[in-house]
Amino acid sequence: MRNRTVLISGGGIAGPALAFWLRRYGFAVTVVERAPGPRPGGQLVDVRGTAREVVDRMGLTDRIRAECVHEQGMAYVDARGRVRARMPVHAFAGEGIVADIEIERGDLARILYEETRDRVEYLFDDSIDTLTQDADGVRVTFDRSAPRTVDLVIGADGSHSHTRALAFGPESAYARPLGAYLAYFGTPYPARDGWFTLHNAPGARVIGTRPTRHGTSSVLVSFAASELDVDRGDRAAQQRLVAARFADVGWRAGELLAAMADAADFYFDRYAQVRMDSWHTGRVALLGDAAWCPSPLTGQGTSLALVGAYVLAGELAAAGGDHRVGYRRYEQALRAHVTKGQEIPGGGVGGFLPAGRTAIRLRDASMRALTSRPLRGLATRLFFSHADGLTLPEYAAG
Ligand SMILES: Cc1cc2nc3c(=O)[nH]c(=O)nc-3n(C[C@H](O)[C@H](O)[C@H](O)COP(=O)(O)OP(=O)(O)OC[C@H]3O[C@@H](n4cnc5c(N)ncnc54)[C@H](O)[C@@H]3O)c2cc1C
Repeated sequence: MRNRTVLISGGGIAGPALAFWLRRYGFAVTVVERAPGPRPGGQLVDVRGTAREVVDRMGLTDRIRAECVHEQGMAYVDARGRVRARMPVHAFAGEGIVADIEIERGDLARILYEETRDRVEYLFDDSIDTLTQDADGVRVTFDRSAPRTVDLVIGADGSHSHTRALAFGPESAYARPLGAYLAYFGTPYPARDGWFTLHNAPGARVIGTRPTRHGTSSVLVSFAASELDVDRGDRAAQQRLVAARFADVGWRAGELLAAMADAADFYFDRYAQVRMDSWHTGRVALLGDAAWCPSPLTGQGTSLALVGAYVLAGELAAAGGDHRVGYRRYEQALRAHVTKGQEIPGGGVGGFLPAGRTAIRLRDASMRALTSRPLRGLATRLFFSHADGLTLPEYAAG
């Protein structure tokens, strides 16, 4: 086989999933991850549609199921906590919907790491510094580890991918901001029930709680804003900004935001999608959020990463390691599936963040109507179009 050594940047979801499959096909794999270990944090992510088949083929369905969280659905409440609309997951049973697997992102990242760590080299607390490719390989220098030359480099280092910046150019050329920001953090407050409970406030703001596997709740806040001048590394400034934006919001906002300062897993970012004409250049390719971040508003990021990892590894193996063939087929097989996965369901950003009281009431009313029996088919198409239209290719094990 040509091109046996593969360096993957990013040990999140896409990176370890790719490492899993590449190892199975006989490649020698190294994963470099900037964090000191498998990175915890994040809320519930969905493994849906075609991705369920991928985890099945990995033999991980039972392991993942053992750690998954059974959320009842979404409930919208007013400033006094009265439920205005619900979107129960079970309402769609019998509509051709196979229930999603919901698992905390950090738990899934840890499972994928544990499944690969014995056969894959992990370099934690490190990052690629420079990449120089020629006809024979890619010369890589790191922040900490000794330089080395590998056959292929895959950037699976998330929506702000450093590999993409090094090999394809600046993020601004590929990231399309969606005009809104989000923060997540865990709280010690017990989950009151199994619902993802959300309160929309005028000014295009939403705050919500979700149950965790440990019986506590995690918080999501989102608000519409054009580009904000806040440093991605300045957690204190981000928290001040969130606190100021939600200072006058009712429901449980005050209590929930009080837990923000102590949260070890506080995460803040803008909503943006990544759109690229090509996911590879020479010996370097991109995967997952680095290549096509659909944004958390789609609920598809994790599923696309798992499916993408399966296809990229399979096509490289099927091409005998020839990256020119393997990378091209990877794109051909996935492009339409990814484009579909980038569609934001339920009215886009405006549907999630209605601007004023009337828009909030209208959204609640449409939610109630959509869960009524005659309109469930429409809701199924609007919210559950899982892009499970991809028939997974079969690749021979190495
Ligand atoms: C902490 C965190 C929390 C998240 N929470 C949610 C959530 O609640 N809901 C949701 O829908 N999506 C969430 N996401 C995004 C979600 O994980 C992805 O959309 C999806 O799973 C695709 O995964 P990925 O592996 O492509 O990217 P990611 O999961 O973002 O993983 C990328 C990995 O690359 C690492 N990395 C970044 N830069 C470098 C570098 N220079 N060198 C080496 N490694 C690097 C990161 O530390 C991270 O481990 C979160 C991502 C992170 C990192």
